[in-house]
Amino acid sequence: MTGTVLDRFLRYVVIDTQSDPASATQPTTEKQKDLGRVLVEELLEVGLSDAHLDEHGYVYATIPANSNKSVPVICFCSHMDTAPDFTGRNVKPQMVTNYAGGDILLPGDPSRVIRVSEHPQLKNQIGNDIITTDGTTLLGADDKAGLAEIMAAAQILIDNPDIKHGTIKILFTPDEEVGRGVNKVDLKKLGADYAYTMDGETAGHIEDETFSADSVDIVIAGVAIHPGFAKDRMENAIKIAGAIIDRLPKDIAPETTEGKQGFIHPTGVAGSMEKSAISLIIRDFTDEGLTEKEAMLEGIVKDVMKSYPGSTYRFDVKEQYRNMKVVLDRHPEIVENAVEAVRRAGMTPVRGSIRGGTDGSRLSFMGLPCPNIFAGGHAFHSPLEWISRQDMEKAVRTIVELAKVWEERA
Ligand SMILES: [Zn+2]
Repeated sequence: MTGTVLDRFLRYVVIDTQSDPASATQPTTEKQKDLGRVLVEELLEVGLSDAHLDEHGYVYATIPANSNKSVPVICFCSHMDTAPDFTGRNVKPQMVTNYAGGDILLPGDPSRVIRVSEHPQLKNQIGNDIITTDGTTLLGADDKAGLAEIMAAAQILIDNPDIKHGTIKILFTPDEEVGRGVNKVDLKKLGADYAYTMDGETAGHIEDETFSADSVDIVIAGVAIHPGFAKDRMENAIKIAGAIIDRLPKDIAPETTEGKQGFIHPTGVAGSMEKSAISLIIRDFTDEGLTEKEAMLEGIVKDVMKSYPGSTYRFDVKEQYRNMKVVLDRHPEIVENAVEAVRRAGMTPVRGSIRGGTDGSRLSFMGLPCPNIFAGGHAFHSPLEWISRQDMEKAVRTIVELAKVWEERA
């Protein structure tokens, strides 16, 4: 078995690990453990003798310290599942070696083209080896790139005892894409002081800020009656749901916002005449922004319901995750060390915020501060997903440098 980051990546992407938001189990899909078992085997092969997969689908392992200093225990973390948005079954990775520029055609579906105009990052990849799918599945670089990078870095640290580092923990999680990636994580067992998810996009990027996120479920009980006798009596819950959706603000939507703007986004609707339900997600970078949007949404619902006096509604807000910046600002050295590692690995560090959440945002609030470092993938959750070998190698170097920086500065 070969140990380069590319070899590992190509081994992992062909294992279907799609998670399922409708499942009540943990992991949400049993097949995620197929990859977990492969990773444990490879970790043992690298020499991490405590590597194991637990019943909930988490993989834990330790790279023992080889420094006498008292170095904080840091953890590198990545998720094994792929997004439910697009199929991850039967992934057939394609490789464009020595990319010369231009649009990339996907052989399995001629209608799908990775265009430079839509993926300007391709301009920074000339001469690199780019991995894509055949156009019929997602690739799963999100976040199998992170897995491969952590594995390759572990191998380097074990094979080169002259590289001094403290204790390093490895954590691979299931179900990140359905927001349940850290539900059953055992932080006590993990025993890390600080962590990094390897789950970002462009090489050189470090993210210490995420959305704050809530979900809202609106359930409407209408007035059902035989359509033949319905005049002035029926209140069709399907139409009530439709009226609410129609009133959602067009300028506070994912398709019309960017940067630090939040949004209200319907993710599901189901209904019959007597009962309908709308699921939404609310996103913002501040708690006040979330509260405002939720109040606005309930205002719309109340207003629509005025026309349906016999009907009732329920409006349930659930917290999903919070902006991790609040926690990370208390430990500036975590991001500073990552910035230094990126620089030493030959890139210009770029700090940014994520219009989304990571395992790290929840870990940060559970007591394990955890910013996000690039993994190199692009066009996540889609059949146009791509990544270059060279960017994965940069991530491997970043992990190794980061281990060294923590030891040096201890
Ligand atoms: Zn991810």
